[in-house]
Amino acid sequence: MTHRACRGKRIRRVAGSVGVNSADPQVETVVDLDAVAHNVRILRERAGGAAMMAVVKADAYNHGAVPVARAVLAAGAAELGVTTISEALELRAAGITAPVLTWLNTCDADYAAAITADIEIGVSSADQLRAVEKAARSTGTTAIVTLKVDTGLNRNGVSPEEYPQVLTLLRQLVDEGVVRFRAMFTHFAHADQPDHPVIDKQRDRFVAAVETAAEYGLKPELVHLSNSAATLTRPDLAFDMVRPGIAIYGLSPVHEISDFGLRPAMTFRARVALVKRVARGEGVSYGHEWIAPHATTVALLPAGYADGVPRGVGGRIEVRIGDARYPNVGRVCMDQMVVDLGENPAGVQEGDSAVLFGGAPGDPHAQDWADLMHTIHYEIVCFPRGRVVRTFTGGAGIE
Ligand SMILES: *Cc1c(COP(=O)(O)O)cnc(C)c1O
Repeated sequence: MTHRACRGKRIRRVAGSVGVNSADPQVETVVDLDAVAHNVRILRERAGGAAMMAVVKADAYNHGAVPVARAVLAAGAAELGVTTISEALELRAAGITAPVLTWLNTCDADYAAAITADIEIGVSSADQLRAVEKAARSTGTTAIVTLKVDTGLNRNGVSPEEYPQVLTLLRQLVDEGVVRFRAMFTHFAHADQPDHPVIDKQRDRFVAAVETAAEYGLKPELVHLSNSAATLTRPDLAFDMVRPGIAIYGLSPVHEISDFGLRPAMTFRARVALVKRVARGEGVSYGHEWIAPHATTVALLPAGYADGVPRGVGGRIEVRIGDARYPNVGRVCMDQMVVDLGENPAGVQEGDSAVLFGGAPGDPHAQDWADLMHTIHYEIVCFPRGRVVRTFTGGAGIE
């Protein structure tokens, strides 16, 4: 094989990309903000006239909360949804002024900081509402409150048992001007099974909860309940606003039904650190779980379980390098993994980029890993971490 310069030096960044472009990271996630914008447009079409709250919790499902938030707002999302107050404050600190809702906080969370930063607080209990009241009084600022009602997920949300008590207190606080009652929402248990009877049951309970609030003289400015799956498969449930997460990132929550034309936004890739020959009968990686059946060429990738490649997929995944797919052989280690290039007809060399999963034609898909791990692609895109550098492409024109 002829000697060529390390190929990585020729990797080019897409013009208009945002974020830190450190020079050719060894292992990175590349987040395509144009794909994010495309996915928002698809979801908005499905939502008809309803507004859209884009869920950017958990650092935008590990895609980078601030750049993703800017991209979704530019693509027409009206509001943002996150889990914690800290997540909401991160968006505000970046200068994002759109409405932001936070919905999972303990009763001793920093509600004063949320109120001061104009963050809408999702309340799931009377204790939480009392804590918000206290913070509103101490800051002298009206709190924006949204009720999260439990309609059958039996996780977060006001329980039916506590609901009257919460409404009584809320009514009092609204009358006093301590609280502005912004919205009501709930969350589905079975939205990824579009025909499941519990979906309609939850809708009916939600509508009843809104009616009960009205009996207390409480009328929300808007109501919302559809996550990605419901937005894509049950347009009749869009109400005033839809609240998708995973589909924004290009992954269909009902992938066995359709991908709806969504484009995965995350590409997880590593650059070939070493290419070498291995003789027939030699074992590769810890425990020698793979023995070369014939002399072959292998490539070493600097991505391991510390970077978010689960050890459990070892020897069962493929990576794409150039136009070809190559199998991972042997165990995934903390820092590295090995792929078999065979006789290496494509001339893979050190510095080349290997896609672990992504969205381009021929890329392995996060769903492939999910199938192997008996989990869902939501969890797979949350895996990359630690040394993995996140870079962005697309998003030209977003401020
Ligand atoms: C995470 C979450 C969503 C988004 O769900 P997807 O299935 O990712 O679309 C919507 N609402 C709430 C309350 C959530 O926790």
